[in-house]
Amino acid sequence: MLADYHMHTSLCGHAEGSPEDYVNAAKQCGIKEICFTDHAPNPDGYDPDNRMTLAQFPEYSDLVSSIQKQTSDMTILYGIEADYYHGCEAFLAPWLKKNDFDLVIGSVHYIAEWGFDNPAEKETWKSADVSHVWRDYFTLLTKLVDTGLYDIVGHLDLPKKFRYCPPDAELAEIATPALDKIAEADMTIELNTGGLRKAVNEIYPSPLLLKMARERNISICFGSDAHIPSQVGHEFNMALKLAKDTGYSECVRYLKREKRSIPLHFDHIA
Ligand SMILES: [Zn+2]
Ligand SMILES: [Zn+2]
Repeated sequence: MLADYHMHTSLCGHAEGSPEDYVNAAKQCGIKEICFTDHAPNPDGYDPDNRMTLAQFPEYSDLVSSIQKQTSDMTILYGIEADYYHGCEAFLAPWLKKNDFDLVIGSVHYIAEWGFDNPAEKETWKSADVSHVWRDYFTLLTKLVDTGLYDIVGHLDLPKKFRYCPPDAELAEIATPALDKIAEADMTIELNTGGLRKAVNEIYPSPLLLKMARERNISICFGSDAHIPSQVGHEFNMALKLAKDTGYSECVRYLKREKRSIPLHFDHIA
């Protein structure tokens, strides 16, 4: 069974359920390995409504270590979802180094001051130059990779959330430099099923971008981006089918920020 490497806790302020509830939900769908990846604190005042404070961080790390100690029949990893934005390295670089995470997801949720995937800021899309937004987004992704701070790129094509997308040919051209860099840096991308719960109703990334990733031998993992326990492992069979249809035969697992390849088994997908 696949591992679910993307889920939040109530510490981020917009998720529900206790860590035990997430573990029990994983057990119910037969998942043997999960990673908590709550939003990293940013003491510089970045996006405070969607993350724990630095003062709350010990609570997060205690929550994860106590559930790890209580659970013997599955693997629970300790991760974090850390945003990339201009200047984030000043805090993140030393902070990530001193915490012993199993994996770090790197995500872009803002273009300048605009939280482009925030439902409260969705109206901005109506007057935006869509191609320009996607170019800015993928430029930020190349910078994210350049920092060398992250293991996994979170929800690779997040700007599609509200269905504002450039045509495929243009998207392929826009995404190429970032995908080349992800491959060169030997980073992983996640098949994030959270997109199936949004207006776009599609896994992140799209079949087109996943095909481009496959051509570059970019490794994959799987994440539900669960914000409530019942979303753990959400539609993983669809994600597995997408991986299969794209020609993937392996995914990766992490431990202490080292990755290893695991064969994918397709027997139980239709
Ligand atoms: Zn995210
Ligand atoms: Zn997330």
